[in-house]
Amino acid sequence: MSFSRVNSSSATLTKNRTEDSITTASGMCVTCVDGCIGMCEIGKSAYRGHEVIYPQPFGVITTAAEKRYPVDYSHFNIMGTATGAHGIEMDSDKAIFPAVNLEVHIGNDGGLKFRYPWIISGIGSTNIAKNNWEGLAIGSALSGTGLTIGENVVGMDPGAVFKGGRIVDTVDLKRRVKLYKDHQHDGYGAIIVQANVEDGRLKVQEYAIEKLGVECVELKWGQGAKDIGGEVKIKDLKQAQMLHERGYIVLPDPTDQNVIEAFQKGAFKEFERHSRVGMVTEESFAATIDGLRKAGAKYIFLKTGAYRPADLARAISFSSKYKLDLLTVDAAGGGTGMSPWRMMNEWGVPPVELHSLVYQYAKRLSDNNRYLPAISVNGGFSFEDQIFKGLSMGAPFVKMVGMARAPIAAAMVGKTIGLSIAAQQVPVYIERFGNTKDEIFVTASSLRKELGSDAFDKLPTGALGLYTYYERLAQGLRQLMAGSRKFSLEHLSRNDLAALTREAAEISNIQYIMNVDKSEVDNILR
Ligand code: SF4
Repeated sequence: MSFSRVNSSSATLTKNRTEDSITTASGMCVTCVDGCIGMCEIGKSAYRGHEVIYPQPFGVITTAAEKRYPVDYSHFNIMGTATGAHGIEMDSDKAIFPAVNLEVHIGNDGGLKFRYPWIISGIGSTNIAKNNWEGLAIGSALSGTGLTIGENVVGMDPGAVFKGGRIVDTVDLKRRVKLYKDHQHDGYGAIIVQANVEDGRLKVQEYAIEKLGVECVELKWGQGAKDIGGEVKIKDLKQAQMLHERGYIVLPDPTDQNVIEAFQKGAFKEFERHSRVGMVTEESFAATIDGLRKAGAKYIFLKTGAYRPADLARAISFSSKYKLDLLTVDAAGGGTGMSPWRMMNEWGVPPVELHSLVYQYAKRLSDNNRYLPAISVNGGFSFEDQIFKGLSMGAPFVKMVGMARAPIAAAMVGKTIGLSIAAQQVPVYIERFGNTKDEIFVTASSLRKELGSDAFDKLPTGALGLYTYYERLAQGLRQLMAGSRKFSLEHLSRNDLAALTREAAEISNIQYIMNVDKSEVDNILR
């Protein structure tokens, strides 16, 4: 059985002529006929070439791989129990699911506190991020969760001011940080500023620390969607030329007269802006960390992608040696605003395998009494059961899961509902709940009470969408944890999971379901 689907996908807006009869290896129609207009990916590539590498349409979608990995989190089940309670009194009146504590405290001084064990990791310069930032920032801040401003935001900002190759003023980054900070309350959550190669050159993080009061910065080695730098499309010639001048790789060359003419004639409609790949060395890593600490960074994170095991070992080892505060490990499969489609599907270590390696390597360092930062794992998490499994798989080292696509979806839906309310055209599917945000969003009345009517009325519905989605995840996770009798996160363990297949058990070292509790069973039945 093939794990991959080739040559046709909704992601690239392509399909086969003989949809029910496909050659598995090539993805081609069993009979490729002379005269077909070429709706498949090969056919579309015959006239749009490299454009078909990317999921479409850019700017209004997020995307992730559709490859079926041999093992995924559905190959594990959560083990509940009928006895006991961890983290609360063994009393049926007290051990109730609303009493489950989901708070996480991380950082060298334990000073970073989050209401929930999840964080949005790295939403950067893609249009989808920019256009939904209000909802994402305000929703994250209100929920007391972390939000990471991804790479290239400063480099893409037409309003950014540079002096001597360094950033001295911004419009977009300032706005993004401010939107979050203005809605943060009781000290929960954190806004994190990430940097890739280009951001590092522009000294973006130093600027964020000194001028915007940012305390957390993150170095980015990579992500799950691709093993090359960030990419976006640019519809505007002037902007493409500006980015070229700022040192980005822009394709085709927007300063070439032939290219300019072709663009103006409409031969192609978008330029591509690419970032460079990093060159990780311990020496440069140490120097960067030292520089950031001297610049005043209070907390330093590292995000690595679905690279080969040696790179994961390097990431964990460096994070330990240089006393980082959080290491995020993003597994293969994506979660992106723009990445090459085939690359997204076919590169990297998938979630269960990568997260199992994270546990193994972290345990090895821990057994040798080495310092370990808090660890966050990413890889398609969208619901409470997956969050439970991700946290348990990596317990006690994994403290949070990282997400991006699911929160963006919630913020986008919230925003769309807001637009439909304003236009008095609430879709029937939603109208059964009402026609106002108070009626439609189930969290509205408690938020109105908490924030006061003035502040509540100013909230964008994108933020309400994210806040309400998080409220659902929180209640769902509390229920699952109560079922496993774990009333706070530090009690989650690998023993809370069972592998449904021997292959999943072998990869993860989580017990095969038929072997769970063997010695306890023997004692009970003696
Ligand atoms: S070009 Fe060939 S493979 Fe592609 S859709 Fe047409 S018939 Fe099928």
